[in-house]
Amino acid sequence: SEFTALDAQVAGDEAEAEEQLAQPVLAVVGRPNVGKSTLVNRILGRREAVVQDVPGVTRDRVAYDAQWAGRRFTVVDTGGWEPSATGLQGSVAAQAELAMSTADAVLVVVDASVGATATDEAVAKVLRRSKRPVLLAANKVDDERLLADAASLWNLGLGEPYPVSALHGRSSGDLLDVIVGVLPEAPRGDRLGTGPRRVALVGKPNVGKSSLLNKLSGEERSVVDSVAGTTVDPVDSLVELDGQTWRFVDTAGLRKRVQTSSGAEYYASLRTKTAIDASEVAIVLLDAAEPLAEQDLRVLTMVVEAGRACVLAFNKWDLVDEERRYQMVRELERGLVRVPWAEKVNISALTGRSVRKLAPALRTALASWDKRVPTGQLNGWLADLIAATPPPVRGGKQPKVLFATQAGIRPPTLVLFTTGFLEAGYRRFIERKFRERFGFEGSPVRINVRVRE
Ligand code: GDP
Ligand code: GDP
Repeated sequence: SEFTALDAQVAGDEAEAEEQLAQPVLAVVGRPNVGKSTLVNRILGRREAVVQDVPGVTRDRVAYDAQWAGRRFTVVDTGGWEPSATGLQGSVAAQAELAMSTADAVLVVVDASVGATATDEAVAKVLRRSKRPVLLAANKVDDERLLADAASLWNLGLGEPYPVSALHGRSSGDLLDVIVGVLPEAPRGDRLGTGPRRVALVGKPNVGKSSLLNKLSGEERSVVDSVAGTTVDPVDSLVELDGQTWRFVDTAGLRKRVQTSSGAEYYASLRTKTAIDASEVAIVLLDAAEPLAEQDLRVLTMVVEAGRACVLAFNKWDLVDEERRYQMVRELERGLVRVPWAEKVNISALTGRSVRKLAPALRTALASWDKRVPTGQLNGWLADLIAATPPPVRGGKQPKVLFATQAGIRPPTLVLFTTGFLEAGYRRFIERKFRERFGFEGSPVRINVRVRE
């Protein structure tokens, strides 16, 4: 049907190769009682409380947000994982294995006052194969006299042991300096722009874009004939709505009446793409009086793929009667099945009906686009969800979701770290539940899966 185009393209987007993580992950491993939780608390500066470990009880919160020297990263306490291996040595080694394959760097903690045990040796043996950086913390070095014990941990073959006292905080700043030094740089910042928020006003020809822009800017712009062959530079319009100034991007084309000529459709589509790329939020105008067209869905797909926040404005509402309204309900259910999260407003650019509802809808969508769920909160929720509805078994194996982090905003991007492939259906289930719990109205949410290799 005409609606499958959007389906297919959005599904392709979901299946997109694992994106580079904006917020790098540090996994903390080591046998019980070496001071991992204490050290994690130290790294977090106790901003997020760590649930105390009760022997035999799985911790349901395993990952937390940390920040040091202006760098944000996720700290994962692998003590919460339940590897299938039996025996202490086997299970700690299995945790190290998982840490190595999921995190950007591994911090192994050893109790320097005890020295390296057989379990520590087993963990070190696993970690020596790591392609990612491994740091060795010699913990419980509460005073100078224990420095020699720390130095003896060179024998583990993991490089320099960093002496720390998680309990007293001794040298933990030095360790954090080393940690942020080995973590990969965040590839893209969240580009917190300044000035008015950028809006793209897009939709198929004749849907009412210039009428709406005129209505919003409160002035009747004269329609200027375009000079054939002249390239018009993108021009933005500053529009005040609801006490806030907005930058409507690339609106030059809306003022000109480009006569239909060969290639006009191609240029219209190019202009739409340019405007969306330059925007933070798109108002997608739909003609409420007409059936949803393939062209509408193409524009919507461009917005979703570009990861922009979105407001659907059903224009020409003045032409909608009872019968049309009834048709629409069914039409939209099918046509907009992939964007149930979009903010919706019914407007008339002609009469001005409800156009003042646009600004609040834009604000809601942008607030979602900017929103970040703290890692601890995210994992607390996820653990419950997965316990109640585990991922479907594939090839006799039950994939495990180890932890998740919201790696980025604009658009909000979750990364799930798993031990197996998660089907698209299950990822959609997670997205639906995530939205039920945390909102995110008006913004696309990306879910990437990092499967341990
Ligand atoms: P985990 O099982 O590895 O997470 O270890 P915990 O963080 O729960 O710590 C185990 C015990 O070691 C607790 O009683 C801590 O208070 C203690 N501990 C942790 N770090 C230090 C330290 O730097 N010095 C000393 N003396 N004790 C510590
Ligand atoms: P654009 O090509 O998307 O910029 O569309 P225009 O703003 O040029 O509008 C195309 C036609 O639709 C014009 O004849 C407008 O007067 C008409 N139009 C725009 N908005 C509305 C509306 O809300 N109701 C009605 N009845 N007509 C509208």
